[in-house]
Parts: sequence; C-alpha cells; structure tokens
Amino acid sequence: MSVETIDTLVIGAGQAGLAMSEHLSKAGVPHLVLERRRIAERWRSERWDSLVANGPAWHDRFPGLTFTDFDAAIGPDDFPAKEQVADYFVAYADKIAAPIRCGVEVLKLERNSGRPGFRVETSDGVIEAARVVAATGPFQRPIMPPVIPAETGVVQMHSTGYRNPQALPEGAVLVVGAGSSGVQIAEELLRAGRTVYLSVGPHDRPPRAYRGRDFVWWLGVLGKWDAAAQEPGKEHVTIAVSGANGGHTIDFRRLAADGMILVGRTEGCTDDVVRFGSDLVENLNNGDANNRALLDEADAYVARNGLDLPEDPEARVSVPDAPCVRDPLRALDLKAAGVSTIIWATGFALDYGWMQVDAFDADGKPRHQRGVSCEPGIYFLGLPWQSRRGSSFIWGVWHDAKYLADQISIQRAYIAYDDACRADAAR
Ligand SMILES: Cc1cc2nc3c(=O)[nH]c(=O)nc-3n(C[C@H](O)[C@H](O)[C@H](O)COP(=O)(O)OP(=O)(O)OC[C@H]3O[C@@H](n4cnc5c(N)ncnc54)[C@H](O)[C@@H]3O)c2cc1C
Repeated sequence: MSVETIDTLVIGAGQAGLAMSEHLSKAGVPHLVLERRRIAERWRSERWDSLVANGPAWHDRFPGLTFTDFDAAIGPDDFPAKEQVADYFVAYADKIAAPIRCGVEVLKLERNSGRPGFRVETSDGVIEAARVVAATGPFQRPIMPPVIPAETGVVQMHSTGYRNPQALPEGAVLVVGAGSSGVQIAEELLRAGRTVYLSVGPHDRPPRAYRGRDFVWWLGVLGKWDAAAQEPGKEHVTIAVSGANGGHTIDFRRLAADGMILVGRTEGCTDDVVRFGSDLVENLNNGDANNRALLDEADAYVARNGLDLPEDPEARVSVPDAPCVRDPLRALDLKAAGVSTIIWATGFALDYGWMQVDAFDADGKPRHQRGVSCEPGIYFLGLPWQSRRGSSFIWGVWHDAKYLADQISIQRAYIAYDDACRADAAR
C-alpha cells in the first residue's frame, strides 16, 4: 500500500501552525498542515462568548495582514471579538494559500526504525514525514485541581467550559484564579448581578493604558515581550488584563469596592466549607507593586527619550480597601453562601501523549532549544516562553516560526549536500 509522504508535517492549524506554514512556504519547504477540527478552533469553541482579544488590533496580529484590512469595521485600537480573531486566521490561511487539511487528527507519531523520518498515524491514514512541527498549542489540557469533592453537589467547570452568565445555574459563583480569564469571567458575572467570590493568587497587573499608550506598547518599547525565559519554574507569570468593554485596567481593590468578594488562594475543602489562604493582601500588594513598577519604568522611558506624552496621575490613584480586603475571608460554607458554581480559571497543561519520541523530560515537557527538539527532526512551536515572553501570543509565535523555518532550511541543506555527494560517488 502506498503511503503519503511529505517533507515537513505541521500538526495544528492555530496561529502557530499558520505562521509555520507561511515561513516554510517562503523558504520553499514542501509541507502540509493537519488540523483535527477547524482553523483556529480554540478561539471558537474553547473560549467564552464575550471574549475579545486582550491586546488591541494593531498589535495582536501577524505582520502580513492588519485586522482593518481584513475587516474595515475593526479599528486599530479595537479589541477584536474571538470570532473575528478566528475569522482573521481563516482569511490569513487563504491569503498565504496554506496547505491545510482540516478534520484530520494526528493519533500517533513515531520515528522510523533504521531510516530517517517519522511515521505519523492520523484519523485519515498514515503519512511519512522527514520533519514534524508540533504546533498544538500552549494551552492544551485544562487544569482543574482536585480540591473540592464532587459530592458537594456544586457545578464545577474549567474556564474553557464557561460560556455566559445565563448558562450557569442561579446562585453565587466562586471563580478560582485571577489571571486574565478568571478576572474577566468574574467581572462579567458581577455585572450580570451575581454574587462573586474571586480567589486571587500571585499576578502581574499592568495598566491597560498609561500616558496615552496601551500596555502592549509599553511592554514592547521596554523590551519586556522579548525577555528571554528565566530560571525553570519561574517562567509562568499570571497577567491580569482585559480588553472587555473597550479595555480597562484590572484593579482588584476597585472590583472589591464594586462588590466582588476577594479571597486568597483556594487551599482545600471539608464538609462543604472551602478554605482560603492568608495570602490575599500579599498578592494584592505585589500586584500593585508590579503595576507601579511599570508606571515608573514608563515615566523613566518618557523622560530619557524626551517624549511628549501626557501626564497620567489617575493611573496612580488607589481605591480605599473594601471589608473583604481589610478582613479577608478564610473559609466559605458553599451551601450557606448559596454558591451554585465554581469556575476554575487555573490554567492549562501540555499534552503530547500522541508523540512517541524521545523529546520530553520526566515531567512530559518538551526538551528543546528555541523549539528545536533534542530529537532531530522534531520541532515545537507556540510553547509558553519558547524563546521569549511573547512566544505564546499571536505576534510572538510568528517570529519563533521564522526561526524554526530557518533551522529546518539549514538541516535540509545538510541533507541535500549528503545526497549530492552520494550521487557524485555513484556516477
Ligand atoms: C482565554 C485566552 C485568551 C487569549 N487571548 C489572547 C490575545 O488576546 N492575544 C494573544 O496574542 N494571545 C492570546 N491568547 C494566547 C494564544 O494566542 C492562544 O492560546 C492561541 O490559541 C495559541 O495558538 P496556537 O496556534 O499556539 O495553539 P492553538 O490555538 O491551541 O492551536 C492548536 C491547534 O492544534 C489542533 N490540534 C491539537 N492536537 C491535534 C492533533 N493531535 N491532531 C491535529 N490537530 C491537533 C487544535 O485543534 C488547535 O486548533 C489567549 C489564550 C487564552 C486561553
């Protein structure tokens, strides 16, 4: 039986797979992209209804197409809705004529024995490839810590399962995790009239905008998106930002003043009573310090470069503490408080169970350098902090893909040299 062969196989047609395809095409590398569902699927079916991009349209995009050129109704400072983001990527795939096959899931990947390349088992047959790029996303498997027993009877879901306030049972909601997902969901529920408890861990909370520039601009000019990964284990930073309702700074103390009940980290649960850590105030203080540090760096940048950007004293105004901050709740009886739902906005893990190659450490994390695996011929793209802080974001992955295409071209040149030598010898 004949087996389909391809030089480079890319798995996943999210932004990472598309960026990879663009750069492979530019480098003249024959390739194929396999996607188990639709292009940019996660933006459509694994996010809540009201989600908009966390960064403005001028910034959170690929260099080859602006959102406005794709849809004239989207201005550069708008925050595109999730469906617009997905549609943008479909349009992008069309623009670069990316060779994408949708509806094909990769089930297993293994190295060929005794010869180069890989055997890839898919839901639509076997494909052999000299190289494989795993572009299956930075956020693959939702993490739901097993803290609250199912017997409590409360509905529990991961943030990927949340859609809108109306879809939840009546009653109060505990949202665990105060990164961008948790805080945006909690705010939406508060605005819908729900009683909301928000469990706040360590976080960064940059200003949405300062002195007339969005924080994405500040992180860019200050070189922070390009910051390289630090010590292992210290890479993950929870960033609380929101583009919802035109975008605004996340200020937890202001949310508390508006009626949200802030609590520390969720630690355990006995007899329907959830226990919270004593770290709420520390986490809020550290978040405030992070916010002020960015304002200070921005001011220094303005001064050093003599920029004409308006003063912004409002950004430094702090809100008086609400009772939940002055005297934090350490325990919550779910039934007595009428909590019907717990939403875990506690992040994601990687899941490369389908890759049967020697490319992972004992924890299942890829062993790689800027996406080039220790297993020759295997590449990873879209990992958090793959090469820099921006790696898992739309604009960052495009640059990492460029690097990988370059590395793939270098390897192909070595193989081509070897082939030429053999051909000469055979003459
Ligand atoms: C709630 C949320 C909001 C975000 N907002 C922003 C934002 O505003 N701006 C920004 O820059 N970034 C944002 N991000 C981060 C990042 O841009 C997204 O997570 C993005 O989806 C990552 O793209 P990706 O292509 O790397 O992975 P994914 O989008 O996860 O794409 C991977 C693809 O691989 C497919 N796949 C997986 N396994 C297989 C298999 N075995 N066979 C075939 N196909 C497979 C999946 O179906 C999927 O389509 C956000 C993330 C989250 C969670």
